[in-house]
Amino acid sequence: HSSATERAIGLEWKYGAHNYKPLPVVLSRGQGVFVWDVDNRRYFDFLSAYSAVSQGHCHPHIINTMMEQAQRLTLTSRAFFNDQTGVCVKYLCNYFGYDKTLMMNSGAEAGETALKLTRKWAYLVKGIPQDQAKTVYATGNFWGRTLAAISSSTDPSSTRDFGPLLPGYVLVPYNDLNALEETFRNDPNIAGYMVEPIQGEAGVVVPDEGYLRGVRALCTKYNILLIADEIQTGIGRTGKRLACDYEDVKPDLLVLGKALSGGTMPVSAVLADDEVMLTIKPGEHGSTFGGNPLACAVTVAALEVVENEKLADNSATMGEIFRARMNALREKTDLVKLVRGKGLLNAVVIQERPEYGEGTALELCMRLRDNGLLTKPTHGDKIRFAPPLVITEEQMHEACDIIEKTALAF
Ligand code: PLP
Repeated sequence: HSSATERAIGLEWKYGAHNYKPLPVVLSRGQGVFVWDVDNRRYFDFLSAYSAVSQGHCHPHIINTMMEQAQRLTLTSRAFFNDQTGVCVKYLCNYFGYDKTLMMNSGAEAGETALKLTRKWAYLVKGIPQDQAKTVYATGNFWGRTLAAISSSTDPSSTRDFGPLLPGYVLVPYNDLNALEETFRNDPNIAGYMVEPIQGEAGVVVPDEGYLRGVRALCTKYNILLIADEIQTGIGRTGKRLACDYEDVKPDLLVLGKALSGGTMPVSAVLADDEVMLTIKPGEHGSTFGGNPLACAVTVAALEVVENEKLADNSATMGEIFRARMNALREKTDLVKLVRGKGLLNAVVIQERPEYGEGTALELCMRLRDNGLLTKPTHGDKIRFAPPLVITEEQMHEACDIIEKTALAF
C-alpha cells in the first residue's frame, strides 16, 4: 500500500463508523467504465456502485446538466413549485407508462413509500380493516437498511439486535408460485407483494422463466398489488428497460433508484396509476429533498443517456459475451462453479479452496484488484460482475482476460 492509500483508509477507520468493510483500494477519479486510485492506477469498475453508475462514471451529459442546474437552483423543498420537478415526473410517467410518479432520494425510502402507498390502498380501496393490512416479501429479499426494509429480511446480520421489527409482514420462498398462491388464498388482508425480478444482493438469483408472469396473474386474481423493486434490475441493467419487460409484466407499483441519477446523487422514485397514487393526500408523505430541481434535471439527463446510447441493448449483448467467456473459463478451472445473470447483472459462484475457506471469493477479488479490476463478493462464495452499461466489446474482452488470467493463476 502507498502512504496515500494508508492515510485515507486510516482516516475512515479512525473517524468513520465501522458499518462497512471496503476492499482496500482508495479511488479518486472515474471516467466511463474506469476508476483510478490515489496513485493513479486504473481499474475496470465491475461493481458500478451496486448498479448505480450504469451510465458510466462522470458521464458528460449528466455532469453538464448537473453543473448547469447546480448554478441555477438546487432545492426549494416542496413548499413551493420549481420548474424542473414537473418536467421530470412527466418524463418518468411517459417513459415507464404510469399515471403518476413520486420522487424520493434513497432506494430504501422508495421501497418504504411503496409500502405506505400499498397500506393506504389497502384501507381506502381494497377495504381491509384498519391496521390489518399485510405485505408479502420473498425470502432473500434486500431493499435497504431502514427498519421497514430490514423487517422483511431473512439475513440475520441485517436484523440482529435491531428489533422490534415492523408487524404485518409475510415471507414466501422466492421463485415459488405455489407457495405464493397458498399465502394469497389463505389471507384476505394481504395488500401487496414486493419482489425483485432478479434478487441482487442475494447473489443475483434469477427466477425461472414465467415466474414474474405467474406472480402478475396471482396478484390480479387475488386483488393484491404487485410491487416490483427494480432499483437494481431496472433502467437497462438486465438488458431491457426493466427486468419485468422480459415477461411483459406491468407491476402496479414500480420502484426505481440507483441508476436513475447515473450515480451522481441519491434519486429514487415510485410510479403507479391514479387508483394507487392518489390515496396519499397533501401532507401525508414526503421528504425535504425528494423531487428537488437538481435531482430532477439530472434524472432526465440520466434517462436520456440510457435511451440515446441504447444502453439496455448494449447490456444484453455485452452480458452474453461475459457469460460465454466465464462459461469457457469454467471448463478450464474448478474455481468457477456457476455463472448466472441477465444483461450486465451477473454473478460467478466460486468453488472455495481449503487454504482460504469462506474467504476464497474475497481473496480472488483482492487479486482481481491487483490485476486492475474491482468487484466484491456477495454472500460469501459469489462474486458480482456488473460493469457500467457503456462498456464496449473491446473493453469487455480486456476485462474478461484479466478475470481469466487471475482465476487460472489462483
Ligand atoms: N432495493 C434493491 C433491489 C437494492 O439492491 C437496494 C440496494 O442495494 C435497495 C433497494 C436499497 O437502496 P438504497 O441503498 O439506495 O437505500
